[in-house]
Amino acid sequence: MTKAKQLYELQEVDLSIERKTETLTQLRSQLGKDDDLVSVRTALDTARKHLADLEHQQRTAEWGVDDLGKKIALEEKKLYEGSLKNPRELMNLQHEIELLKERRREQEEQLLAIMMEVDTNQQDVALKGSELEVTERDWQADQERLSREQTDLEADVAMLEQKRESLRGQTDSASLEVYEKLRQAKQGLAVAKVVQGRCEGCRISLPTSDQQRARAGHKLVTCSNCGRILYMD
Ligand SMILES: [Zn+2]
Repeated sequence: MTKAKQLYELQEVDLSIERKTETLTQLRSQLGKDDDLVSVRTALDTARKHLADLEHQQRTAEWGVDDLGKKIALEEKKLYEGSLKNPRELMNLQHEIELLKERRREQEEQLLAIMMEVDTNQQDVALKGSELEVTERDWQADQERLSREQTDLEADVAMLEQKRESLRGQTDSASLEVYEKLRQAKQGLAVAKVVQGRCEGCRISLPTSDQQRARAGHKLVTCSNCGRILYMD
């Protein structure tokens, strides 16, 4: 194997490690991240509290209507017992009963409005409850998938690192030094393939002599334009 081919293979491995490590970093930041889940949960909690508040209002209103009903029954009993003989007192009592009934009608209307609101909110709570169920299930599946991907990627990176060590072991230190320096300077692309007479790093057409020397592979040939090590299949 020529030195350029060795370095090209090393570069493939290095680039692969870089990509996979980057993916791993992104993946790790997603693991355990539950913002969406928390916001759906919070929305359900808020809806439940609101419903509980409305149900309390409903009970209070029901008691109010009930109380008025009892009061009316009591006053009406007085009226029909016939214990009141004074016409003025009778009129007053009738008037009072009318007022109580009017109040009861008003309170019954309020109660009805609250009951309708309770109904709407019960539906809302049910909806948010099933939304949470779905979100939880999706989140769980997502986390499991991420976790599996993490394990796979970690294994890949470990394997690639072994391969890198083995490749570096087979390469002379002078070539490695050139490679590392170029890798730093050229954003990871130290070795460029020669395709149809062009350097793949900078796309320039290479002199035939450079192509021949690169093909021969006796020593490292660099692109006269971008300075990358040239590699020919
Ligand atoms: Zn070039």
